Amino acid sequence: MAKIFSGIQPTGQLHLGNYLGAIKNWVELQDTYDCIYCIVDYHAMTIPYQPDQMQKNILEAAADLIAAGIDPQKSILFIQSHVPEHTELAWMLNTVTPLSELKRMTQFKDKSKQFPENVNMGLFDYPVLQAADILLYSTDKVPVGEDQIQHLELTRLIARKFNQKFGETFVEPEVLLTKTPRVMSLKDPSKKMSKSLGPAHYIALTDKPEIIQDKIKKAVTDTGENSAEVSPGVQNLFTLLEIFGRAEVYKKFTAEHQAGKIKYAELKEELGQAISDYFADFREQKQKLLANPEGLRDLLAQGTKKAREIAVKNIKDIKNKVGL
Ligand code: ADP
Repeated sequence: MAKIFSGIQPTGQLHLGNYLGAIKNWVELQDTYDCIYCIVDYHAMTIPYQPDQMQKNILEAAADLIAAGIDPQKSILFIQSHVPEHTELAWMLNTVTPLSELKRMTQFKDKSKQFPENVNMGLFDYPVLQAADILLYSTDKVPVGEDQIQHLELTRLIARKFNQKFGETFVEPEVLLTKTPRVMSLKDPSKKMSKSLGPAHYIALTDKPEIIQDKIKKAVTDTGENSAEVSPGVQNLFTLLEIFGRAEVYKKFTAEHQAGKIKYAELKEELGQAISDYFADFREQKQKLLANPEGLRDLLAQGTKKAREIAVKNIKDIKNKVGL
């Protein structure tokens, strides 16, 4: 079976962007691929964080993923820093990564602007550690959101450069996008949905029904008078309704919009309800999982053992190639 690898930072709760852009795909791929999913705690150190919250955030990420449908019996689910081969490989990959390529990365530029007091070397080197995560497991495909395409291109370049210098070693992995690779912010639909914009901009999968209703109610739309144009805010709500709502409800509102007769308050009410219903089971499962932190730690330890078996074997071969 072809191999899948992807990661997520333990930086708090999952939002609809993470879910629709990546995690929903992770869940669906489990039956047809060998899947490895990683909680990337080393990556989370590159932005300001509280050390005493990290373990809680890691468990929360694990609970999020399992409640969303990742099955630790089918897929390998583990913590990045528990497999030291990731950072070992990152160092070796650093030596074949052109500085000029790293300087082009838009995520580095964005996060440097966001945290001007903390423009650190780890943030700059983030894509090389990500390349190590992926290449260490001979990954064929990487399910991520659109914002990660540039990093994946760099991963492919690093694999090529390494292979040219040291002989055929790495597979060049491909990006796997979902139908919604870029979910937009509710309050500023010109930007991608992200936690860093603030709670009004995103819906967390654990948000309670009344919070979801409230956030959707305050989402940006348009005046509804110009039926030929679909504004970015309305398009975003339609995209969500198509996924979470019933087909006939989606059809009704798009037809009303075309006719210039749509009432956004009604659309928002329907959408808020549909999202709340869709994640009702998720909310319950996550609470159950978090009530048993030992159980979660056990699952992660089992995953780490399986990941490490592959990593140790592969790093031996890689070290051989580079003459170490
Ligand atoms: P964040 O972007 O919130 O910091 P991560 O960097 O850990 O979260 O990203 C986890 C996954 O979610 C990545 O595959 C990323 O591409 C995807 N993702 C994040 N935000 C969005 C979005 N607004 N739309 C689609 N996918 C997204």
